[in-house]
Amino acid sequence: MSAKYQRICLVNYHEIGLKGHNRARFEMRLLRNLEALLASYPIVTIHRVSGRLCVFIEEGTPLEVACEVLEAIKGVPGVARVSCGFKCPRDLDVICRVAIEALGEADDFLTFKVAARRSHTDFATTSAEMNQIVGAALCAAFPDKGVRMKQPDVTVGVEVVQNAVYVHARSERGVGGLPVGSSGKVVALLSSGIDSPVALWRIARRGAACVAVHFSGRPQASDASEFLVDDIARVLERFGCIARVYVVPFGDYQRQISLKVPPSMRILMYRRLMFRVAERIACMEGAGALATGESLGQVASQTLENIQVTDAVVSLPVFRPLIGTDKQEIIAEAQALGTFEISSQDASDCCTLFMPRNPETHGSVQAAEDAEVGLPLAAWVEQIVAAAELHEYTCPGYRRPRRGAAGRRQDEESLRGVEGASETAAAFDMDVDSGQEPSEGDAPRAVGEGGQEGPSS
Ligand code: ATP
Ligand code: MG
Repeated sequence: MSAKYQRICLVNYHEIGLKGHNRARFEMRLLRNLEALLASYPIVTIHRVSGRLCVFIEEGTPLEVACEVLEAIKGVPGVARVSCGFKCPRDLDVICRVAIEALGEADDFLTFKVAARRSHTDFATTSAEMNQIVGAALCAAFPDKGVRMKQPDVTVGVEVVQNAVYVHARSERGVGGLPVGSSGKVVALLSSGIDSPVALWRIARRGAACVAVHFSGRPQASDASEFLVDDIARVLERFGCIARVYVVPFGDYQRQISLKVPPSMRILMYRRLMFRVAERIACMEGAGALATGESLGQVASQTLENIQVTDAVVSLPVFRPLIGTDKQEIIAEAQALGTFEISSQDASDCCTLFMPRNPETHGSVQAAEDAEVGLPLAAWVEQIVAAAELHEYTCPGYRRPRRGAAGRRQDEESLRGVEGASETAAAFDMDVDSGQEPSEGDAPRAVGEGGQEGPSS
């Protein structure tokens, strides 16, 4: 059914309101994000209106489509509440008619109340009077429904602003947080597992535009995890959280490490290399931090000592938004986000490659540095970054790295690094081909052989 009045969605954003001088910037960021994320819906325009945003929906749009718009808006970081209803002139008779139309579209309900609010006191009727007038009109139009002030099934909102009135009977909480792009850029290590998509989501919800790095087991393992990561990124893209995924074929480097370092140290070595690569990408992207889905003690690499050992190779802060979160809580969050089903599918990535039977649980920086002696790490990092495949997603809050002097210098250095790396790569390839196999008991395990990293205890 199409509506007689202009359909709108009113967007509230508590936290942005607290930002003092920055408020306009935050509001504009949210507005731009919504404009881009709602591009496929029949939206006329989005305006700032008295401390809110108003999304104007095209004339004749049916209720079901307006509800889809509401659903799309409520998952966008920065949105505290979204209400779907109508805009009308500041005329009490019209307001009453619109309120009847709005309540008529509400889902099954038995009780309701009216909550009127004036942002502009130049409207002669007070909020309390409006509650009574509109309430009486609704009682007459819906004689079998009851008025209830505490916890009614439906609240009919009547919001009077400068030139108009917004009336709605459908209102839902948003995800809150800050608009993506208002807190800079973060490079997130994204596996196809359950935890890291949730970690990325949490960081994005605090306003960071996220660039992901995925370490694939390719060519030693299949590319299955890459498809899952793409599916995960498509979910995160709906809310404008993820801008890019750098897919890094990592299998050969793990193999190389597994040939050279004591088995118990392998996982720490893989992770230290991952962090170095992620930091290099962060540097190219101009990102201010890394993020992972680690949770204290979840697996061997996530003990306090081992976290120190991996952090020691990077100078950027490493955010671990799930560090104090239990797996069950993470699963519930992944389900709500819509990534759980995807992450539950079996796909080997680099995590299942060449795993030792007894990983070190209490590593030390010194032991890790000793184990790394002789590995051409700097060259590997450049080589890995040069081989990374870039997948792009819609993230309106994301800014591409600047191509200024610093960027050019960076690129040049990176190219030099790659030349150096290719020399080392030759040696690397020889090593892999002629590869001394590790001694018995140390044998690197290929996909499916070793399974996941064991528990930390
Ligand atoms: P998740 O933690 O996402 O469920 P996982 O259990 O396979 O995946 P862990 O061994 O718990 O991964 O690794 C801890 C963190 O390290 C991950 O949350 C993620 O941030 C990062 N990580 C692990 N494997 C990868 C990978 N293949 N690519 C990118 N990041 C990874
Ligand atoms: Mg995990």
